[in-house]
Amino acid sequence: MVEKSTTRRAEKLSAVKGMNDILPPESAQWEALESTVRLMMRRYAYENIRTPIVEPTALFVRGLGEVTDIVEKEMYSFDDRLNGEALTLRPESTAGVVRAVIEHSMLYNGGKRLYYMGPMFRHERPQRGRYRQFHQIGAEALGFSGAEVDAELILMAHALWTELGLTDVALQLNSLGQPAERTLHRAALIAHFEQHADSLDEEARRRLHLNPLRLLDSKNPEMQSVIEAAPKLLDFLGEASRAHLDTVMSILDANAVPYVINPRLVRGMDYYNLTVFEFVTTRLGSQGTVCAGGRYDYLMEQVGGKPAPAVGWAMGVERVLELLKEQGLSVNVASIDAYAIVPDAASLPVVMACLQGLRAHGVSIQMHAGSAEGAASMKSQFKRADASGARFALVFGLDELAQGVVTVKALRDGAIAQLTQPLSHPEQWAKSLQSNA
Ligand code: ATP
Ligand code: MG
Repeated sequence: MVEKSTTRRAEKLSAVKGMNDILPPESAQWEALESTVRLMMRRYAYENIRTPIVEPTALFVRGLGEVTDIVEKEMYSFDDRLNGEALTLRPESTAGVVRAVIEHSMLYNGGKRLYYMGPMFRHERPQRGRYRQFHQIGAEALGFSGAEVDAELILMAHALWTELGLTDVALQLNSLGQPAERTLHRAALIAHFEQHADSLDEEARRRLHLNPLRLLDSKNPEMQSVIEAAPKLLDFLGEASRAHLDTVMSILDANAVPYVINPRLVRGMDYYNLTVFEFVTTRLGSQGTVCAGGRYDYLMEQVGGKPAPAVGWAMGVERVLELLKEQGLSVNVASIDAYAIVPDAASLPVVMACLQGLRAHGVSIQMHAGSAEGAASMKSQFKRADASGARFALVFGLDELAQGVVTVKALRDGAIAQLTQPLSHPEQWAKSLQSNA
């Protein structure tokens, strides 16, 4: 019996807008994706790094750049109530990884290949594929300047799509060159947009002299023709930058990884140089970028470290899972091996000792748990056992217990119908309950 409440029920609370609960069975898809990623990271020798979710606000302002969507309008920033420190929920993880690499002198004896997984926070308008708490999996290679590492990272992402069975992800590639090349291009870009000032929207006009490259990133359909006609950074690349891009391209070619050069691809953060890339699908509407990254050789310096080259990518977990679903590729959730049907409370110590032994030998078991009043009827427990998806019911009847045995009953086709097993020696028959035994 549930106790009668004498007070009024408290007001219902719900999750913050744009922040989602990830519930079973959906959460199994997350776990499966994460396992696949871990295996993949191992194949390429990337090591796991876990940085805090909260960082000093200054890290992002300095790292991402003041005139970026994230810093201008998307950060969850607050002052610590106790000491007034300006803090921010991380909107991405590259800046935090770089901070940690500097703080712990991680590059003291050469480069590091790292990966992370976790929640990120951006105050955006929630819609399909765009949330306020979302999740990224990212890979960063720090301390390596060669184009082969850019290529390695792209190949790893590509291998991941293959491993997952995703087909509809197209690679777009571009080079942002080096700062001096950007300066030349920047002047040409400003001149071009000034000539067409009347076709710019308000945001574009404001950013024109602050960060003209950002204008190429605009999603405003009315600006697309002016953007289309703008001078291309690719035409301003010097020999070394051109060679860097060519190396990436020839490694991709040798691996038969298709790509298109997209001269408009600029990415949302200030810290990129040379190689930038995105994996894009047409199957998720306008939130089609599933993975994005590039080289960021100047970020270490910008956040106060010794200069060191770096390159990385981040993928949006929600978008990858959405795409898997779209392509009918969800993983099968493994069902449990057995459901334990229990008699009265007095027998539970013996029953649970047997279950503990079976689990120690790898069997997954859901034990019937009822109310404090005592066990439910056999009939209703069998109903639960059926609904659980388990392959076997373990029937701990009073008669069986008296004889020191338990009845194993098949709930699905293909398994032996019924037999008894010794209670005290679970190790002898644990294997017979496991589907992969
Ligand atoms: P967009 O142009 O879609 O806003 P972005 O350039 O801001 O993307 P990045 O900062 O490069 O995105 O983040 C890498 C990846 O993380 C994106 O390609 C996307 O898959 C995912 N992502 C970014 N913002 C969100 C969000 N608000 N909700 C869900 N996924 C996101
Ligand atoms: Mg964004």
